Amino acid sequence: MVGRESLEGQYKILDFMPMGAMVLDRRYRVLCWNRCLECWTDVKKKEMLGRDLRELAPKLREPKYGSRFQVVFEGGPPAIFSPQMHQNLIPCWLPNGEPRLQHIIVTALRAGDSEEFYALLTLQDASEAQRRLQDYNRMRMEALREVEVRWQAETALRASESKLAAVANASLDAIVMVDSLAQVAFWNPAAERMFGYTAEEALARSLLDLIVPEPMVERMRTGFSKFAWSGQGSLVGRSFEATAVRKDGTEFPLEISIGAVEMGDQWWAVGTMRDITDRKQNEARLVELATTDSLTLLANRSHFIELSSHELQRAKRYGLKLAFLLMDVDHFKNFNDDYGHDVGDEALRHVGRELRQALREVDIAGRIGGEEFAVLLPETDEAGALRVAERVRRRFEDHPVQYGPQKLPLTVSIGVASGVTEEFGTLMKRADKALYLAKKLGRNRVEHPLA
Ligand code: GH3
Ligand code: MG
Ligand code: MG
Repeated sequence: MVGRESLEGQYKILDFMPMGAMVLDRRYRVLCWNRCLECWTDVKKKEMLGRDLRELAPKLREPKYGSRFQVVFEGGPPAIFSPQMHQNLIPCWLPNGEPRLQHIIVTALRAGDSEEFYALLTLQDASEAQRRLQDYNRMRMEALREVEVRWQAETALRASESKLAAVANASLDAIVMVDSLAQVAFWNPAAERMFGYTAEEALARSLLDLIVPEPMVERMRTGFSKFAWSGQGSLVGRSFEATAVRKDGTEFPLEISIGAVEMGDQWWAVGTMRDITDRKQNEARLVELATTDSLTLLANRSHFIELSSHELQRAKRYGLKLAFLLMDVDHFKNFNDDYGHDVGDEALRHVGRELRQALREVDIAGRIGGEEFAVLLPETDEAGALRVAERVRRRFEDHPVQYGPQKLPLTVSIGVASGVTEEFGTLMKRADKALYLAKKLGRNRVEHPLA
């Protein structure tokens, strides 16, 4: 039989174990109480030895514990008490005063050769593991929540990205995004069609090298360097018309709207561009219709007056000379009567053509009445104007109207006025007087007011 003293000596080694360990006899009297237990229970070995453990741990009096200890005292299989189920069965404390959770294994220990059994209790500290488990669980829940939140955000982003992509793909306008150094970051299918570069070719290249006409490149580069640090620029936040270059080098007009957006730590510009070639052509056609006489293709009366007034202002400002011719077809009523109105129209076309042939590029010619024409001669003095008028008169004399095989003679009378007067109307009146004189003196001649 193992004596209590020798038992204590035999289990001295338990003092060095990092777990609580005690030995009980079948009356729950403590035979061994290791250092770890002294520390955990704050009860010294000498206080505990020989004492009934149930005085310290009254829970053990409950039958459910008693019966399981009984099995062990009879040499049966070990009893195990988990921290989840039994928590602080032997009152042990953490340094912060909270209960120390225990995982307890009670094994039978034969006392020498006798039939008597002792119980060896080993207590593992489960608080740390439990705390870690709780921490781990909390972290796991947080991670799950984070994954959930991120997944939701990503789903929302994917949905909005795909909507955005659908809009950009379907847009008839080119949508182009560039960074603050003008490098292309986005190039939609309409941009591919409009400029001739695929997205692959355009991405990461400078917009200035792709679509900006050479004379504009330096100005745009300066604009972009300001945009890079301020997100502002003279072109940002508004729509304007400009000219762009396609991959094949051809130029075309377009309307551009530019917006700025700050992302990451830099500014980006988003441009929406529309090809306005058709609109420009229509506009040009409308302007032409509004300003040109359709029969002679010369300027119509109102456009002629507008151009001439502008020229007169310029002459006044720069002290330039200027002359004016008023020309009327001679006996045109008779011409119409002799050959018919259609031939009369053809004769007026002839007048338009011959007049253009006889004049310089800078001269302005217009049809200001039925068979009345006017010519403004910039930077021309009276003598010069008389020479031009005489050349014109002779041209009509020398070039009859060609109508089929027929050559129909047609002459003109011309009144000349020169000088920079205050009003355009005054100049016209003086030319009109001269024209009247030319008619009076027999037609097919040039006159000026002083003649
Ligand atoms: P004058 O030498 O004095 O200028 O004689 P005129 O017959 O030319 O003078 P008048 O002003 O009396 O007649 C001008 C004519 O020009 C009358 C008109 O029938 C004709 N006329 C005006 N506009 C047109 C036009 O668009 N087509 C044609 N065929 N004839 C026109
Ligand atoms: Mg006439
Ligand atoms: Mg007339």
